[in-house]
Amino acid sequence: ITGRVWSFRDITERVRAGRVQARLLEEAHEAIRVRDDFLTIAAHELKTPLTPLRLQLELMKRAMTAKEPVPEERVDKALAQVHRLTALINDLVDATSVEAGRLKLRRAPVSLHELAREACSDFRSISPEHAFTCELPPENLQVLGDRDRLFQVLANLLENAIKYSPMGGAVHVTVSRAQDNAVLTVTDAGIGIPEEEQARLFERFFRARNAPVSGFGGLGLGLYICRDIVEQHDGHIWVESELGQGSVFHVSLPLLPPRDAEE
Ligand code: ADP
Repeated sequence: ITGRVWSFRDITERVRAGRVQARLLEEAHEAIRVRDDFLTIAAHELKTPLTPLRLQLELMKRAMTAKEPVPEERVDKALAQVHRLTALINDLVDATSVEAGRLKLRRAPVSLHELAREACSDFRSISPEHAFTCELPPENLQVLGDRDRLFQVLANLLENAIKYSPMGGAVHVTVSRAQDNAVLTVTDAGIGIPEEEQARLFERFFRARNAPVSGFGGLGLGLYICRDIVEQHDGHIWVESELGQGSVFHVSLPLLPPRDAEE
């Protein structure tokens, strides 16, 4: 009897080990598929700005050879593509740091008033076809954080708000207080996000199925990086959205106690 019980245990153990092996294999295949998809998307995204950039440079060269003035608009268009490439490469570098747990913060008191005001003013000049409004509370809310990284979060949310509201439209930024937290919101009236995909939005490489493939492409890394930055500040980031109606992104961050904020 003892021998049979042992061999039964042995079989159960083997079956379990077999199942674990099959699951690991499945996970490894999925990881390879995600990596391959990512490489295809990354190569496409990195290549896309190069075509208009080369065209603008060739036209500039032609004008210079003919001793004609180079229109400033051409230089601006070329620069816009360089900015796009830089942003993509920065996202790739940051995402690698997040993955390795190497994205470090330098903390100091940060005024969310200033942050929101600066971001709105920058985006008004970047995208004049969108109407940016900024609603700030009377009290100056401060958090202990990395100003550049928090600016990066807000800029990413604003960039998405314009990227996914392709026809223009209103983008509203608010800063408010909820108990011991400051809450930043960015609201747009753009394409919205399918409900069943909202929970996956902050995953690495995730792009919703309604995200445009061409024109306003992306790597699906921005929100992944934002979540890491916000969580490193002991905060939360979440979204409310309705397909075809628009989205609201919320970021809540612990407030700096008033005494520390005064110092
Ligand atoms: P990217 O914009 O480069 O694809 P993000 O990580 O910033 O990467 O966003 C992930 C996905 O979330 C986007 O591909 C898009 O599907 C969706 N998304 C983000 N912001 C918005 C928004 N404001 N409106 C609609 N969809 C959005």
